[in-house]
Amino acid sequence: MVVSIPMIRDSTTLKSALILANKCLLFNYLYILNQLFYKTPAILRLFFGSLLWKIKTKEKAIYLTFDDGPTAGITPWVLEVLDAFEAKATFFCIGKNVQAHPEIYQAVVKAGHAVGNHTHNHLNGWRNTAKSYLENTTKAAKHIDSKLFRPPYGKIKPKQIRLLKKAGYKVVMWDVVSADFDQTLDSETCFQNLIRHTKPGSIVVFHDSEKAFGNLKKVLPQLLAYFSTEGYVFKSI
Ligand SMILES: [Zn+2]
Repeated sequence: MVVSIPMIRDSTTLKSALILANKCLLFNYLYILNQLFYKTPAILRLFFGSLLWKIKTKEKAIYLTFDDGPTAGITPWVLEVLDAFEAKATFFCIGKNVQAHPEIYQAVVKAGHAVGNHTHNHLNGWRNTAKSYLENTTKAAKHIDSKLFRPPYGKIKPKQIRLLKKAGYKVVMWDVVSADFDQTLDSETCFQNLIRHTKPGSIVVFHDSEKAFGNLKKVLPQLLAYFSTEGYVFKSI
């Protein structure tokens, strides 16, 4: 078995995470581990095998995902860029943002992209009971027609996973983090990390949010151009 060593994003975070890890449950520890890497460690994917981390395929296909929209001025820009490369993607929307911008949500759907539920108020699963987490997801479902679900911050408890599954949701994680939201990261580093870790079937996380736009506006067209030249296609989940 070939084991590749993922790149550590931040050694200070690693140190504090290791101190914290002594006090944490295994679940929290694995989550913290995930936050440190651009590529989701294989152990995490193995441990949480019931979640979707990547698409099993040998086809040169990449699954781009955009969290936290719809956002005025940004989501429409993402749609234009994707269209220029004939790329399809998946948008994990926040219910209240869809409520505020139903026309942008409709434009996403009309363009043939997939949508997913990202709760109504971007809830942190660790700070909410399973019941209120499901209720908030159900509230968002009034505006988002999808059984795909992505937990905000990637923070979700096993009981919440069980309840969501019972309600028919497929929980979608990722195997490559763009870290576009990290304003201390320059877009070139962001791009290099993406091309290093993205493989056939990768699910890549971006954000169509204000916070991420500084990196997104440079990296997204670059990434689409690079992988198109390499013969890849971009599909929705
Ligand atoms: Zn989010």
